[in-house]
Amino acid sequence: EDTKCFLKIVYNIDGSKKMEFELPFTLEKKEFVSEALDLDESNSNIKTDTSLKRMEQIKKLNGILETKNPSAVYQTTPFLLPTNATRRTSFFADRREYKYTNGKSTTGLHYGIDFGIPEGSEVSACAEGKVVLAETRVTTGWSVVIEHLPGLYSLYYHMSQLKVKEGDIVKPGQVIGFSGSTGLATGPHLHWEMRLNMEAVNPDFFTGDFAFSGKN
Ligand SMILES: [Zn+2]
Repeated sequence: EDTKCFLKIVYNIDGSKKMEFELPFTLEKKEFVSEALDLDESNSNIKTDTSLKRMEQIKKLNGILETKNPSAVYQTTPFLLPTNATRRTSFFADRREYKYTNGKSTTGLHYGIDFGIPEGSEVSACAEGKVVLAETRVTTGWSVVIEHLPGLYSLYYHMSQLKVKEGDIVKPGQVIGFSGSTGLATGPHLHWEMRLNMEAVNPDFFTGDFAFSGKN
């Protein structure tokens, strides 16, 4: 059963008087995919790694993702997919159970979309933006994070090689690296994720008509 809802937006610009409007939306029923992943020794070790190095990497990424820079307005028109590959091996918000070699397991949500693509395939920026992270990480391998709008970031994981560095301004479709299976991966793929005010949101939304076109 669908539920009709309204989202009330209250805002003001530079101390001017408070404005508000309501956005209607519909809450629809959705079934999510559930999958159990049997992790090998190496992947189990990554997922259960509590080293200072990994903790520092998580802290650094969260610090970036919680940053809302008001002047970071790079693109307000629909985004592109980050790869020509169309084969998706995991979907946004899949329910996951990670099974470790020690018999224990944890559950989690899959925060992005996985594209199954051969090692060395081009990975491109989904929109104009500023590269705010470009480095290798324990869990996500060679990784890039791009800032597109205040609080809106795209993330690209498990690459074999990067073609950008922190501070670069990239254009939509610009090659930022090549796919791989670095970090926690069971084979070559691209993990593409979008974060808005820290929350993982469905990347497909941004390739649709999400633009601030002035339509109400
Ligand atoms: Zn993934």
